[in-house]
Amino acid sequence: MRELAARAEQLADAIEALRRQLSRGEDTLRRTGYRLDDAAGWIRQAAQDLQATASDMARLAALPTDACTLPWGVCPEHGNTLATSGGVTACKSAGCRRAWGYNRDTVPCAEPVTHRLIDAGGVETLVCDGHAVAARDQLVGARLEPLTP
Ligand SMILES: [Zn+2]
Ligand SMILES: [Zn+2]
Repeated sequence: MRELAARAEQLADAIEALRRQLSRGEDTLRRTGYRLDDAAGWIRQAAQDLQATASDMARLAALPTDACTLPWGVCPEHGNTLATSGGVTACKSAGCRRAWGYNRDTVPCAEPVTHRLIDAGGVETLVCDGHAVAARDQLVGARLEPLTP
């Protein structure tokens, strides 16, 4: 994945070099290069997407064995209060300054398990502090039991 991202960066560099070469040419030649700025930009975006995917995969591989079992992240203190924009996730709860340099709300939760959540149908899930807060706020009829280490 990182290898593909590096190749995409090289391709973008090569397109920009070609663009510079054309812009030194005669007027008619210069104008033929107008698509290349966009082309290089798209390939740079593709390289960034590949890098972000590689980072998500590394985070998955590094999940601790006692990690929360839910497949999306929350604020460890406030629960489902996250908002993501431009690859940065921040907690929107007043006074909480937590932020993460990746799309935390779309990758599996890596916080340690602290509670057993039993939903209204009796299904048990092991969850972290943040997901316990979220369940308290959002799940009707659910019970939470703290785990004793
Ligand atoms: Zn928070
Ligand atoms: Zn969790």
